[in-house]
Amino acid sequence: MSFAADCKQELCMIENKRACCLKAECYGLLLFSKCFSARESQMVCENAAVARRVAEAAAVSAGVYAEVRSQLRRKNIGAYAITIPGEAARIQMIRSFGHDENDVNLHIHEENLQKDCCISAFLRGVFLICGTVTDPQKEYHLEFSTPYLHLAEDLVAVLHRVKAAQLSPSIARRKNSYIVYIKESAAIEDFLTLTGAVNSAMNLMQIKMYKETYNNLNRVSNCETANLDKTYSAATKQIAAIALISDKVGLDELPADLREAAVLRLENPEMSLREMGERLSISRSGVNHRLRRILEFAEQLGSPEESLAEQSVFEVEEKLHAENAKTEEF
Ligand SMILES: [Zn+2]
Repeated sequence: MSFAADCKQELCMIENKRACCLKAECYGLLLFSKCFSARESQMVCENAAVARRVAEAAAVSAGVYAEVRSQLRRKNIGAYAITIPGEAARIQMIRSFGHDENDVNLHIHEENLQKDCCISAFLRGVFLICGTVTDPQKEYHLEFSTPYLHLAEDLVAVLHRVKAAQLSPSIARRKNSYIVYIKESAAIEDFLTLTGAVNSAMNLMQIKMYKETYNNLNRVSNCETANLDKTYSAATKQIAAIALISDKVGLDELPADLREAAVLRLENPEMSLREMGERLSISRSGVNHRLRRILEFAEQLGSPEESLAEQSVFEVEEKLHAENAKTEEF
């Protein structure tokens, strides 16, 4: 099941304990459904629990029967068609929320959500019928969709009225609909908690924490790799220089302190300056100074890039061993 379906499933399990909240949720469910009209209309809903909740809302709040028919849509996705049969029943439902069936522009009637407790119930109803939330693994996005501009604007105002959280809703146009959306992860988490999808809110929080930890680890490891690369490319340059000296004049031509550093570097291409300093019993900057002098020494002999830059450490080492062996022979 998708993250949105899980949320809706969880929200549909909630029982409204107060009559005021029950009415507010029913109002949200019906006002933002396609059935809130005196004309005959049908709305299709993919979620069985939500379809049931709409029918219950019509019965409980307005004493009206809503028909839910199961349909099979393309790709075998189940869907439910909801209708309220009979014009008289539809008018009764509209009037029960203080609306007039001849209203051209739909607005949210504030008298249906007088108390603070009713706002969460109302928002739950609205989210169930016309809302969705993207899987937080992909992105943080929660939205409501309605064909009516005034309803979208009023919904933004209600979202701003929530005292417990900063939901920061925005509004956008998409084809023939108005989209009210929330982008910020903390705001989405607050919205889910507020409407009662506590487990989904916790899942979102966990996914967010996991993503942040993973990103931080990634950043650290990229940084470490970059540092390693830096050490390694400096070492490669030094080895090329040492190889050039060894090839042209022999390492014995180097002063003793430089030869010592050169051999240590050849044997340990990945060793840091600090580690080399420990081995040579000199400071880090002392090692740096010796290696710079080796590079200068090599520069006087010719560019290491030209002759030996591509020679592998292994080859150079082999050569060094061969030289040593020769010395031993004599
Ligand atoms: Zn209430």
